[in-house]
Amino acid sequence: MSRSVSIVMYHYVRDLNSSRYPSIKARTVDEFRFQIDYLSKIGTFISKEELIDSVLNGSQLPENAVMVSFDDGYIDHYENALPILFDRKIEGMFFPPAEPIITNKVLDVNKIHFIIASEPDINSLVKQISTWTQAHAKLYQLTSFDEMWAKYAKPSSYDNAATVFVKFILQRGLPMTARNALVSILFRKYVSHDEAGFSAELYMSKDQIRMMSQCGQYIGSHGYSHEWLDMLDTEEQELEISGSVKFLNSLGIATNNWIMCYPYGCYPYSAVNEQFRALLTTYGCGLALTDHGGVANIDTDDKFMIRRIDTNEMPIR
Ligand SMILES: [Zn+2]
Repeated sequence: MSRSVSIVMYHYVRDLNSSRYPSIKARTVDEFRFQIDYLSKIGTFISKEELIDSVLNGSQLPENAVMVSFDDGYIDHYENALPILFDRKIEGMFFPPAEPIITNKVLDVNKIHFIIASEPDINSLVKQISTWTQAHAKLYQLTSFDEMWAKYAKPSSYDNAATVFVKFILQRGLPMTARNALVSILFRKYVSHDEAGFSAELYMSKDQIRMMSQCGQYIGSHGYSHEWLDMLDTEEQELEISGSVKFLNSLGIATNNWIMCYPYGCYPYSAVNEQFRALLTTYGCGLALTDHGGVANIDTDDKFMIRRIDTNEMPIR
Protein backbone atom coordinates (compact mmCIF):
# COMPACT_ATOMS: atom_id res chain seq x y z
CA MET A 1 0.00 0.00 0.00
CA SER A 2 1.08 3.58 -0.43
CA ARG A 3 0.22 7.23 0.14
CA SER A 4 1.07 8.62 -3.27
CA VAL A 5 -0.67 8.96 -6.63
CA SER A 6 0.36 10.02 -10.13
CA ILE A 7 -2.32 12.32 -11.55
CA VAL A 8 -1.75 12.96 -15.25
CA MET A 9 -3.05 16.26 -16.62
CA TYR A 10 -4.61 16.70 -20.07
CA HIS A 11 -5.94 19.65 -22.03
CA TYR A 12 -6.74 19.13 -25.73
CA VAL A 13 -7.19 15.50 -26.85
CA ARG A 14 -7.88 15.63 -30.57
CA ASP A 15 -6.61 14.42 -33.92
CA LEU A 16 -4.66 17.30 -35.35
CA ASN A 17 -4.53 16.06 -38.94
CA SER A 18 -8.25 16.52 -39.28
CA SER A 19 -8.26 19.79 -37.33
CA ARG A 20 -8.43 23.30 -38.75
CA TYR A 21 -5.68 24.24 -36.30
CA PRO A 22 -2.97 21.60 -36.66
CA SER A 23 -0.45 23.57 -34.61
CA ILE A 24 -2.60 23.54 -31.44
CA LYS A 25 -0.68 21.60 -28.82
CA ALA A 26 -2.74 18.48 -28.24
CA ARG A 27 -2.54 14.82 -27.41
CA THR A 28 -3.83 12.81 -30.37
CA VAL A 29 -6.48 10.18 -29.66
CA ASP A 30 -4.00 7.35 -30.39
CA GLU A 31 -1.42 8.90 -28.06
CA PHE A 32 -4.08 9.30 -25.39
CA ARG A 33 -5.20 5.66 -25.74
CA PHE A 34 -1.56 4.58 -25.54
CA GLN A 35 -1.02 6.54 -22.32
CA ILE A 36 -4.17 5.16 -20.70
CA ASP A 37 -3.11 1.61 -21.53
CA TYR A 38 0.43 2.38 -20.36
CA LEU A 39 -0.88 3.72 -17.04
CA SER A 40 -3.11 0.64 -16.66
CA LYS A 41 -0.04 -1.55 -17.13
CA ILE A 42 2.30 0.23 -14.74
CA GLY A 43 -0.26 1.26 -12.14
CA THR A 44 -3.74 0.94 -10.68
CA PHE A 45 -6.42 3.50 -11.48
CA ILE A 46 -8.15 4.79 -8.39
CA SER A 47 -11.46 6.66 -8.04
CA LYS A 48 -12.10 10.24 -6.94
CA GLU A 49 -13.59 8.83 -3.71
CA GLU A 50 -10.39 6.89 -2.97
CA LEU A 51 -8.35 10.05 -3.53
CA ILE A 52 -10.61 12.10 -1.24
CA ASP A 53 -10.56 9.33 1.38
CA SER A 54 -6.78 9.20 1.39
CA VAL A 55 -6.47 12.99 1.74
CA LEU A 56 -9.22 13.55 4.31
CA ASN A 57 -9.24 10.26 6.26
CA GLY A 58 -5.69 9.00 5.88
CA SER A 59 -6.62 5.80 4.06
CA GLN A 60 -4.01 3.89 2.05
CA LEU A 61 -3.80 3.74 -1.74
CA PRO A 62 -2.65 0.86 -3.91
CA GLU A 63 1.01 0.78 -5.02
CA ASN A 64 1.52 2.98 -8.11
CA ALA A 65 -1.93 4.58 -7.89
CA VAL A 66 -2.75 6.58 -11.04
CA MET A 67 -5.47 9.03 -12.15
CA VAL A 68 -6.16 11.24 -15.15
CA SER A 69 -7.51 14.80 -15.12
CA PHE A 70 -8.80 17.08 -17.88
CA ASP A 71 -8.85 20.88 -17.74
CA ASP A 72 -11.06 23.41 -19.53
CA GLY A 73 -14.19 21.45 -20.50
CA TYR A 74 -13.26 20.85 -24.14
CA ILE A 75 -15.63 18.87 -26.33
CA ASP A 76 -12.59 16.64 -26.99
CA HIS A 77 -13.09 15.22 -23.52
CA TYR A 78 -16.60 14.07 -24.32
CA GLU A 79 -15.94 12.87 -27.86
CA ASN A 80 -12.46 11.39 -27.51
CA ALA A 81 -11.56 10.76 -23.86
CA LEU A 82 -14.87 9.53 -22.45
CA PRO A 83 -15.29 6.48 -24.74
CA ILE A 84 -11.74 5.28 -23.97
CA LEU A 85 -12.18 5.72 -20.21
CA PHE A 86 -15.70 4.26 -20.19
CA ASP A 87 -14.58 1.09 -22.02
CA ARG A 88 -11.88 0.52 -19.41
CA LYS A 89 -14.08 1.45 -16.41
CA ILE A 90 -11.72 4.27 -15.48
CA GLU A 91 -12.98 7.34 -13.61
CA GLY A 92 -11.39 10.51 -15.00
CA MET A 93 -11.61 13.92 -13.33
CA PHE A 94 -12.96 16.71 -15.54
CA PHE A 95 -12.77 20.42 -14.75
CA PRO A 96 -14.94 22.62 -16.98
CA PRO A 97 -15.00 26.39 -16.37
CA ALA A 98 -18.61 27.54 -15.85
CA GLU A 99 -18.93 30.84 -17.69
CA PRO A 100 -18.04 29.86 -21.27
CA ILE A 101 -20.43 26.92 -21.06
CA ILE A 102 -23.28 28.97 -19.60
CA THR A 103 -22.83 32.07 -21.79
CA ASN A 104 -21.18 30.76 -24.99
CA LYS A 105 -18.08 32.89 -24.50
CA VAL A 106 -14.60 31.74 -25.42
CA LEU A 107 -12.06 31.96 -22.59
CA ASP A 108 -9.17 34.35 -23.22
CA VAL A 109 -6.73 31.49 -22.63
CA ASN A 110 -8.35 29.59 -25.53
CA LYS A 111 -8.60 32.65 -27.76
CA ILE A 112 -4.85 33.01 -27.29
CA HIS A 113 -4.22 29.36 -28.29
CA PHE A 114 -6.19 29.80 -31.52
CA ILE A 115 -4.70 33.23 -32.32
CA ILE A 116 -1.20 31.74 -32.07
CA ALA A 117 -2.28 28.67 -34.06
CA SER A 118 -3.66 30.93 -36.83
CA GLU A 119 -0.57 33.14 -37.24
CA PRO A 120 2.50 31.11 -38.18
CA ASP A 121 4.75 34.16 -37.75
CA ILE A 122 4.90 34.73 -33.98
CA ASN A 123 6.99 37.87 -34.51
CA SER A 124 4.07 39.44 -36.32
CA LEU A 125 2.01 39.03 -33.12
CA VAL A 126 4.86 40.53 -31.09
CA LYS A 127 4.85 43.52 -33.44
CA GLN A 128 1.10 43.98 -33.12
CA ILE A 129 1.32 43.80 -29.33
CA SER A 130 4.07 46.42 -29.45
CA THR A 131 2.00 48.78 -31.64
CA TRP A 132 -1.17 48.31 -29.60
CA THR A 133 0.45 48.69 -26.19
CA GLN A 134 2.24 51.84 -27.29
CA ALA A 135 -0.99 53.32 -28.65
CA HIS A 136 -2.89 52.45 -25.44
CA ALA A 137 -0.10 53.05 -22.90
CA LYS A 138 -1.79 56.10 -21.38
CA LEU A 139 -5.32 54.69 -21.30
CA TYR A 140 -4.30 51.53 -19.44
CA GLN A 141 -1.20 52.94 -17.69
CA LEU A 142 1.10 50.36 -19.28
CA THR A 143 4.84 50.05 -18.79
CA SER A 144 6.93 50.41 -21.94
CA PHE A 145 7.06 47.60 -24.48
CA ASP A 146 10.84 47.28 -24.20
CA GLU A 147 10.57 46.87 -20.46
CA MET A 148 7.93 44.14 -20.85
CA TRP A 149 9.97 42.38 -23.53
CA ALA A 150 13.13 42.38 -21.39
CA LYS A 151 11.18 40.99 -18.44
CA TYR A 152 9.01 38.31 -20.05
CA ALA A 153 10.61 37.11 -23.31
CA LYS A 154 12.35 34.04 -21.87
CA PRO A 155 12.17 30.62 -23.56
CA SER A 156 10.50 27.75 -21.64
CA SER A 157 10.88 24.00 -22.12
CA TYR A 158 7.87 24.04 -24.50
CA ASP A 159 7.99 27.46 -26.22
CA ASN A 160 10.50 29.91 -27.69
CA ALA A 161 10.98 33.38 -26.17
CA ALA A 162 8.54 35.19 -28.51
CA THR A 163 5.77 32.62 -27.89
CA VAL A 164 6.30 32.78 -24.12
CA PHE A 165 6.11 36.57 -24.35
CA VAL A 166 2.90 36.64 -26.41
CA LYS A 167 1.20 34.10 -24.13
CA PHE A 168 2.30 35.81 -20.95
CA ILE A 169 1.39 39.35 -22.03
CA LEU A 170 -2.05 38.28 -23.25
CA GLN A 171 -2.77 35.90 -20.36
CA ARG A 172 -1.47 37.83 -17.39
CA GLY A 173 1.12 40.48 -18.20
CA LEU A 174 -1.28 43.30 -19.14
CA PRO A 175 -3.97 44.59 -16.77
CA MET A 176 -7.23 42.63 -17.18
CA THR A 177 -9.20 45.27 -19.12
CA ALA A 178 -6.30 45.88 -21.51
CA ARG A 179 -5.66 42.22 -22.21
CA ASN A 180 -9.39 41.47 -22.69
CA ALA A 181 -9.56 44.25 -25.29
CA LEU A 182 -6.41 43.23 -27.18
CA VAL A 183 -7.27 39.51 -27.16
CA SER A 184 -10.75 40.30 -28.55
CA ILE A 185 -9.27 42.32 -31.41
CA LEU A 186 -6.78 39.59 -32.32
CA PHE A 187 -9.41 36.83 -32.00
CA ARG A 188 -11.74 38.63 -34.43
CA LYS A 189 -8.87 39.32 -36.82
CA TYR A 190 -7.36 35.83 -36.89
CA VAL A 191 -9.98 33.34 -35.75
CA SER A 192 -13.66 34.25 -35.87
CA HIS A 193 -16.27 36.96 -35.59
CA ASP A 194 -18.70 34.34 -34.27
CA GLU A 195 -17.55 33.83 -30.70
CA ALA A 196 -20.75 32.01 -29.64
CA GLY A 197 -20.51 29.55 -32.52
CA PHE A 198 -16.82 28.96 -31.85
CA SER A 199 -17.57 28.39 -28.16
CA ALA A 200 -20.26 25.82 -28.96
CA GLU A 201 -17.74 23.87 -31.06
CA LEU A 202 -14.96 24.13 -28.50
CA TYR A 203 -16.57 23.24 -25.15
CA MET A 204 -18.89 20.53 -23.89
CA SER A 205 -22.52 21.48 -23.47
CA LYS A 206 -24.23 21.22 -20.09
CA ASP A 207 -26.00 18.05 -21.25
CA GLN A 208 -22.71 16.47 -22.29
CA ILE A 209 -21.22 17.26 -18.87
CA ARG A 210 -24.25 15.72 -17.16
CA MET A 211 -23.85 12.66 -19.39
CA MET A 212 -20.19 12.35 -18.41
CA SER A 213 -21.16 12.44 -14.76
CA GLN A 214 -23.80 9.77 -15.36
CA CYS A 215 -21.14 7.67 -17.09
CA GLY A 216 -19.20 7.58 -13.81
CA GLN A 217 -16.79 10.44 -14.49
CA TYR A 218 -15.99 13.01 -11.81
CA ILE A 219 -16.76 16.67 -12.58
CA GLY A 220 -15.08 19.32 -10.39
CA SER A 221 -14.47 23.06 -10.30
CA HIS A 222 -12.19 25.02 -12.61
CA GLY A 223 -13.49 28.39 -11.38
CA TYR A 224 -16.35 30.39 -12.85
CA SER A 225 -14.57 32.50 -15.47
CA HIS A 226 -11.08 30.94 -15.44
CA GLU A 227 -9.35 33.88 -13.80
CA TRP A 228 -5.97 33.75 -12.04
CA LEU A 229 -7.33 33.37 -8.51
CA ASP A 230 -4.17 34.78 -6.92
CA MET A 231 -4.71 38.07 -8.79
CA LEU A 232 -8.22 38.56 -7.34
CA ASP A 233 -9.27 39.99 -4.00
CA THR A 234 -11.15 37.78 -1.53
CA GLU A 235 -14.57 38.94 -2.67
CA GLU A 236 -13.76 38.17 -6.31
CA GLN A 237 -12.26 34.82 -5.35
CA GLU A 238 -15.48 33.98 -3.53
CA LEU A 239 -17.55 34.80 -6.62
CA GLU A 240 -15.34 32.50 -8.72
CA ILE A 241 -15.75 29.66 -6.23
CA SER A 242 -19.45 30.09 -5.41
CA GLY A 243 -20.28 30.51 -9.10
CA SER A 244 -18.55 27.30 -10.06
CA VAL A 245 -20.16 25.33 -7.21
CA LYS A 246 -23.57 26.67 -8.25
CA PHE A 247 -22.84 25.58 -11.81
CA LEU A 248 -22.04 22.03 -10.68
CA ASN A 249 -25.19 21.93 -8.55
CA SER A 250 -27.29 23.12 -11.49
CA LEU A 251 -26.07 20.06 -13.42
CA GLY A 252 -27.05 17.74 -10.55
CA ILE A 253 -23.42 17.05 -9.66
CA ALA A 254 -22.66 16.32 -6.00
CA THR A 255 -20.53 18.99 -4.33
CA ASN A 256 -19.61 17.39 -1.03
CA ASN A 257 -15.81 17.40 -0.78
CA TRP A 258 -15.54 18.72 -4.34
CA ILE A 259 -12.18 19.09 -6.02
CA MET A 260 -10.76 22.41 -7.17
CA CYS A 261 -8.46 22.49 -10.17
CA TYR A 262 -6.89 25.95 -10.28
CA PRO A 263 -7.40 27.84 -13.55
CA TYR A 264 -4.14 27.84 -15.54
CA GLY A 265 -3.17 24.92 -13.32
CA CYS A 266 -1.04 27.24 -11.34
CA TYR A 267 -1.28 28.72 -7.92
CA PRO A 268 1.59 30.15 -5.90
CA TYR A 269 2.22 28.50 -2.52
CA SER A 270 2.31 31.93 -0.89
CA ALA A 271 -1.27 32.64 -2.00
CA VAL A 272 -2.71 29.60 -0.19
CA ASN A 273 -3.01 31.66 2.98
CA GLU A 274 -5.45 31.23 5.87
CA GLN A 275 -8.06 33.43 4.22
CA PHE A 276 -7.99 31.46 0.99
CA ARG A 277 -8.09 28.12 2.83
CA ALA A 278 -11.11 29.29 4.83
CA LEU A 279 -12.87 30.24 1.61
CA LEU A 280 -12.28 26.84 0.02
CA THR A 281 -13.31 25.07 3.23
CA THR A 282 -16.48 27.15 3.63
CA TYR A 283 -17.65 26.05 0.19
CA GLY A 284 -16.92 22.38 0.88
CA CYS A 285 -13.74 21.94 -1.16
CA GLY A 286 -11.96 18.68 -0.24
CA LEU A 287 -8.68 19.21 -2.06
CA ALA A 288 -7.15 21.25 -4.86
CA LEU A 289 -4.96 20.33 -7.83
CA THR A 290 -2.10 22.41 -9.24
CA ASP A 291 0.23 21.97 -12.20
CA HIS A 292 3.27 21.81 -9.93
CA GLY A 293 4.87 18.75 -11.48
CA GLY A 294 5.44 15.40 -9.83
CA VAL A 295 3.87 12.43 -8.12
CA ALA A 296 1.45 13.61 -5.43
CA ASN A 297 2.53 12.53 -1.97
CA ILE A 298 -0.58 12.70 0.21
CA ASP A 299 1.47 12.89 3.40
CA THR A 300 3.72 15.77 2.36
CA ASP A 301 1.72 17.73 -0.26
CA ASP A 302 -0.57 20.46 1.06
CA LYS A 303 -4.14 19.22 0.39
CA PHE A 304 -4.84 22.48 -1.45
CA MET A 305 -1.65 22.09 -3.53
CA ILE A 306 -1.77 18.52 -4.87
CA ARG A 307 0.77 17.87 -7.65
CA ARG A 308 0.04 16.59 -11.13
CA ILE A 309 2.16 15.30 -14.01
CA ASP A 310 1.84 16.86 -17.47
CA THR A 311 0.89 14.45 -20.26
CA ASN A 312 4.03 15.68 -22.08
CA GLU A 313 6.15 14.04 -19.39
CA MET A 314 4.75 10.63 -20.36
CA PRO A 315 5.67 8.30 -23.25
CA ILE A 316 3.35 8.44 -26.27
CA ARG A 317 4.43 5.25 -28.02
ZN1 LIG B 1 -7.69 25.82 -17.56
